[in-house]
Amino acid sequence: MSVKQVLIVGGGMVGAACAIKLAKQGMQVCVIEQQVIDPQAVLQSDQVDIRVSAINRFSEQLLDELGAMPALRQNRIAQYTQLEAYEDKPEQLLFDSQELGASHLGHLVENKLIQAALWAQFEKYDIKVCSPEGQAQQLLQTPQGATLIYEHEQFECDLIIAADGGRSRIRQLAGIGVTGWQYQQHCMGILIKLDAPQQTKTWQQFKPTGPIAFLPMQYPYANLIWYDEGSKLKALQQLDGATLKQRIQEHFFELPGDFEVVTAAVFPLARQHANTYVSKRLALVGDAAHTINPLAGQGVNLGFKDVVALTHALEGCESLDDALNRYQRQRRGENLLMMSMMDACYFGFSNSLSPLKRLRNLALSAANKSGPIKRQVLKHAMGGVT
Ligand SMILES: Cc1cc2nc3c(=O)[nH]c(=O)nc-3n(C[C@H](O)[C@H](O)[C@H](O)COP(=O)(O)OP(=O)(O)OC[C@H]3O[C@@H](n4cnc5c(N)ncnc54)[C@H](O)[C@@H]3O)c2cc1C
Repeated sequence: MSVKQVLIVGGGMVGAACAIKLAKQGMQVCVIEQQVIDPQAVLQSDQVDIRVSAINRFSEQLLDELGAMPALRQNRIAQYTQLEAYEDKPEQLLFDSQELGASHLGHLVENKLIQAALWAQFEKYDIKVCSPEGQAQQLLQTPQGATLIYEHEQFECDLIIAADGGRSRIRQLAGIGVTGWQYQQHCMGILIKLDAPQQTKTWQQFKPTGPIAFLPMQYPYANLIWYDEGSKLKALQQLDGATLKQRIQEHFFELPGDFEVVTAAVFPLARQHANTYVSKRLALVGDAAHTINPLAGQGVNLGFKDVVALTHALEGCESLDDALNRYQRQRRGENLLMMSMMDACYFGFSNSLSPLKRLRNLALSAANKSGPIKRQVLKHAMGGVT
């Protein structure tokens, strides 16, 4: 049985990528999005988004295949060639693209630009966008098809794909539960304007109060990530730019130059995994299926991998159930592994007991000298693509 009509709920980065991929496979695609955007206006706007993603080489290849990379390359996008993790220098783990003979490890891009560059392709592939009033009220899944019912409208299709983020309404309507927890810590993203040449190294330092990270964006911007207790971060966010800058200087020792704070936002952190990624005529992708600690910037990269796995499974499938099960088998275990690795890192570095600290520093230093193992980890971080 072939799938002809697909309804994708959520046109964020993952849903939009999925829409184009399926339309390219010849399916009729409709995207339901509660916040419709004008992609050209977003791409032309000089308003910088505080939400940025480190996209790896796998995601870059997908965005290229979907026609989004040219618009991104003409916009604000920054390549990074080095990635460093440390607790106390000189012990550190440094990944360099040169070790693999690659030009770069990945890119840092604003989320809204990725979304807009994908939406800019919708017209070409005849992808319809709808924004029905109110919330979806009912989801019917029968052997003949799926129906999503709103107060004044209803949508019928062969398959529904839920790409509506961590609080997925569709997952809820389908009665799919999640396992996970809310981390005690929150994280604050701080957009700064940096008085330094274009930076190409992204780094992360593990501190007893939580990690901090530096993400270089296109000159003159950069994003700082600060993990700590939610109440502390919310108090910091209320400070005026000059006082916040002072606090940042006390906490981030390694900034490459003077800077000006543009804006800051605090995000709660959750780990959440859907108990199943599929049910009758339904598949979950991206954050609707898994929300991961953003420690190593993997969330949307995993979402893009879901898109590739799901669309491959659906291509010319004889049985929709078999295709959905194949998708789930391919992705659920890998996503779970990545979530657990992030947690091992997060909790492993969240205490300041000196013997453990010494051990961690030795581990980072040993990993740095580990040659082939390090190259394997690096390849994995790049999404398996060099
Ligand atoms: C602080 C922070 C830093 C991060 N950094 C990175 C990083 O460096 N690299 C990385 O890979 N990931 C990163 N992530 C994770 C990444 O942002 C997410 O994994 C990604 O946004 C998930 O994309 P998505 O399209 O699945 O969901 P979302 O981005 O949540 O998009 C969901 C879309 O669905 C729409 N929607 C929601 N509900 C409905 C509804 N009921 N009806 C219709 N539409 C609906 C929304 O409007 C939205 O457009 C970070 C996350 C955080 C919090």
